[in-house]
Amino acid sequence: MICIACGEEKEKLAKSHIVPNFVRKRLTGEPDNKGNKKFKFKWGGREDLPKQDLPKPYLMCKKCDNDLGAKVERDIAPFIMPDKVDDMASWDKLDIDTLDNVRVSGAPFHVGKYVCSNNEKSMLNKFSISVAWRALHAMAKDERPLSKKFLDSERGVKVNNAAINHIFNDEPPYDLYGATLYYLRPSPVPFITNQIDEYPFAWVELGGNQSDLGIGVIFGCWVIIWPLGNGGMSEYFDHLDRLEKECFESWLFQVRSELANA
Ligand SMILES: [Zn+2]
Repeated sequence: MICIACGEEKEKLAKSHIVPNFVRKRLTGEPDNKGNKKFKFKWGGREDLPKQDLPKPYLMCKKCDNDLGAKVERDIAPFIMPDKVDDMASWDKLDIDTLDNVRVSGAPFHVGKYVCSNNEKSMLNKFSISVAWRALHAMAKDERPLSKKFLDSERGVKVNNAAINHIFNDEPPYDLYGATLYYLRPSPVPFITNQIDEYPFAWVELGGNQSDLGIGVIFGCWVIIWPLGNGGMSEYFDHLDRLEKECFESWLFQVRSELANA
């Protein structure tokens, strides 16, 4: 099996989290001192996936998996969520810029972005790329056609190498479009899962073809969108606009329907 990060053939790969384990540890699954379970996970259309853990496909060797945790994920939790996650009022103290006019299936829906310094922006971008990059590889391994074809294409090879160098070798994100982290707040999340004690988890190929392709990931109170297109910055913003529209107006509602039937 080949590690998606170092490219080396290994006898065994680690089970890699696509959504970092700190999300599960901080937000979900553990019983409190009264024996009540906190949030659970729910995944539409995949009865095989565990409800008390996140999906862990074989993606990376143990060393790369550990490196990624140390290099990219260490400082993220304290930045994106409050210390006391059970104190709902503390979530409202995060510094968030709310996006106007986002609707999910016609109804107004809260989506925000973190207000942050350039350094923090770089940290969030690298983290978001690392999650979307793992989702891209997981979908290619699942034979999802757009992801597989993209990674085999000239552009895909370039983007993949640039993502690896950025994540693991701290190189600037050359040849990479930025990945954006959106914050949904805990309170509207039950609208997606139909349950007050469940968080949604899913990833998807957005855009209908190679030139419009982007990766979308929803995990807990967050969404990541990573456009993979091939063009300058003006195209990037148009591309991101289209992917945002598809993600919030159509895909989240699809996740909601799948979860309602799960
Ligand atoms: Zn490796």
